[in-house]
Amino acid sequence: MKTLKIAIQKSGRLNEKSVELLKNCGLSFENYKSSLISPVSNFPLEILFLRDDDIPEYVQDGIADLGIVGENVIQETEVEVSYLQRLGFGRCSLKIAVPNAFDISDLSELNGKAIATTYPVILGKYLKEQNIQADIRTISGSVEISPGLGLSDAICDLVSTGGTLKSNGLKPFANVMSSEAVLIGRSGSEHEELVKELIQRIQSVLRAKETKYVVLNVHRDNLQSIIDLLPGVKSPSVVSLAEEDWVAVHTVIPERDFWDKISQLKQAGAQGIVVMPIEKIIL
Ligand code: ATP
Ligand code: ZN
Repeated sequence: MKTLKIAIQKSGRLNEKSVELLKNCGLSFENYKSSLISPVSNFPLEILFLRDDDIPEYVQDGIADLGIVGENVIQETEVEVSYLQRLGFGRCSLKIAVPNAFDISDLSELNGKAIATTYPVILGKYLKEQNIQADIRTISGSVEISPGLGLSDAICDLVSTGGTLKSNGLKPFANVMSSEAVLIGRSGSEHEELVKELIQRIQSVLRAKETKYVVLNVHRDNLQSIIDLLPGVKSPSVVSLAEEDWVAVHTVIPERDFWDKISQLKQAGAQGIVVMPIEKIIL
């Protein structure tokens, strides 16, 4: 029996969401912090818990068939892997930031300056594209304290809310790359069918996250205007109610324009609107 291997981060920012995604795919496994490998009991899959930096290489070399890792790590390690699916979590940006007192207005002001980073490859490419000659200081962590220590004039680091920059007296200046967690694989994997099956499960979970299930009541006179507002998966289900001339409409609404849609539905005569989360959408 073939067994697929998927590598996810052992601990850190992507661990919890990666585990949650796999569990939502119906995969049953133990999530012991101490173990390196966890077998899945109801799918031919093993989960490898690794440092995120090692994941792209493990996938490239065939030790794992799949991996969940930030795009930033893939770009930095310059490996040959295929992007199979964006996962919508672990969103962040790699930004150049400078001390608040550095009154910078143009990238060219970084010429001749020292920039500390743990992303020398991505930063190097970016500076080259922008025609900037700066001194890249590669350090292994705590990049944000380096200007304060006099080790650099600027930094290039991952930012999500910007809180860490702020508390270190830094301000973001240029966006080098935007990143999110992605599912990676290798072309020509010998387990193609299993990979396909797992991707389909992941996609059905992601689709469900983007939509809400909505049930509402409406008078038959207003039914058509409600239907016109609802593209739905196919057409909405319309169910008779005990009260004559009233029906219940069941449909799904995309999360992104959810509140707009709800207020349009109310204006069109919808009442008693009930909203529910969806677990999976299988097409
Ligand atoms: P490891 O021990 O696995 O090497 P790490 O310290 O390198 O972990 P984390 O800080 O856990 O990594 O970040 C993992 C990934 O989370 C990053 O590579 C990035 O893709 C994503 N991420 C999202 N938001 C942020 C953020 N604010 N700072 C850093 N990484 C972030
Ligand atoms: Zn790491």
